[in-house]
Amino acid sequence: MKKAEDFSEWYNEMVERANLTDKRYPIKGMNVWTPYGWKIMRAIDTHIREEFDATNHDEVCFPLLIPEDQFAKEKEHIKGFDAEVFWVTHAGLNPLDVKLLLRPTSETAMYPMFSLWVRSHADLPLKTYQIVNTFRYETKQTRAFIRVREIHFFESHTCHADFDDAERQIREDYEIVERLARKWCIPHKLLKRTDWDKFPGADYTVGIDTVLPNGRTLQLGSIHQYKENFSRPYDIKYEDDKGEHKYVHQTTFGMSERLVGAIVAIHGDDKGIVLPPDVATIQIVVVPVLAKGAAEAVTAEAKNLYNELKGSGLRVHLDDRDVRPGVKYYDWELKGVPLRLELGPKDIEKGVVTFARRDNGEKTLIERERVTDEARETLARIAADMLERAQKTMDADTVAVDSLENLPEKFIRAGWCGGEDCGHSIENRTDRNMIGTPVDDEGFDGACVVCGKPTRTSVYIARAM
Ligand SMILES: [Zn+2]
Repeated sequence: MKKAEDFSEWYNEMVERANLTDKRYPIKGMNVWTPYGWKIMRAIDTHIREEFDATNHDEVCFPLLIPEDQFAKEKEHIKGFDAEVFWVTHAGLNPLDVKLLLRPTSETAMYPMFSLWVRSHADLPLKTYQIVNTFRYETKQTRAFIRVREIHFFESHTCHADFDDAERQIREDYEIVERLARKWCIPHKLLKRTDWDKFPGADYTVGIDTVLPNGRTLQLGSIHQYKENFSRPYDIKYEDDKGEHKYVHQTTFGMSERLVGAIVAIHGDDKGIVLPPDVATIQIVVVPVLAKGAAEAVTAEAKNLYNELKGSGLRVHLDDRDVRPGVKYYDWELKGVPLRLELGPKDIEKGVVTFARRDNGEKTLIERERVTDEARETLARIAADMLERAQKTMDADTVAVDSLENLPEKFIRAGWCGGEDCGHSIENRTDRNMIGTPVDDEGFDGACVVCGKPTRTSVYIARAM
């Protein structure tokens, strides 16, 4: 299946052929992580933990089950999630007095505890996060990593003394997104959702969105300002330095295994997936090219090379299977290993190693003694090139319009006065979603695409994946 011909089929085929998941589990949307796929997810989780630990967030781990009465406290929140919740109604043979639900997200598990933890201004800011599985009953067709019912979820939850401090947290979240997305080579935009599309219970929501090869957007994560919307029903109060009791302001930030889906979708090609070096389970594969009579010498030198690279902290694999080199190349290209080192008897004679880049197919001869330094530099170049290429593709897929007629299947940018009527009109007339208005000032100066009123606000319109 070719990516350019049928992206959707190509994607479904690639996640299985590259062995990231095994979709044969008997419940739809609950995928089995294979060892290879799980290591990629773990690398991403490690990056997330590093960032949040470095910004003074503390990792916590809350229970999976939430009692119905706690869940029901914030009215908008329960309305938003009611149709997606899995319920536990029995314990053994006995019906439960209070039904329990599997967390769709953890506000209602955490906040009753936060109300006990937060006492005085000295307890603030409270910055926590957890990486757990959450459950949402998706009614649309499920798709590995992109639309699932059991979600591998990262969520941060913070409490602040006032609105300004919560806003500072959100700006820190933007910086974290920027650093992480660079590691994962994912181009993206921060887009503030419309009021009718924000997270249930939020004051406002900012989505982290990327564009897939089929022109659809994929939300990679979201950041929310709650103000006092949850602290009031959950009674999360602190005593300020004048002895007054005040409600905290709260924020959250969530991301999921969609990041793996985005990496596959954005960087993969007809040969397989292409992993960013920071994410790759195996960054470098060493392939000995054996020839009659020289097999022993080549194998020994390949082992030396492997040990040297491994010793320098790179994630390297020596493929010494008894199959033709062509078969090995094919397998590792399918699995997206960023860099392949080939070593044959002639290379040993000349004192060189062949470097083959997965991202662009480029092959270079490198002097044997420079291999480790050069490998490190090549991986850095691969990461920079992958991000640059993906950013260029996203830019090319972004099309500014001043009319809603004959829209291409792209990421559309248009002027919007901000009025709700004009917004609904855009969605109805285009049969697409208003993804949101940019958080960064893009210097827009134009007119609302519906009413023609001059505006400095643009809105991005697309079909969401
Ligand atoms: Zn308008």
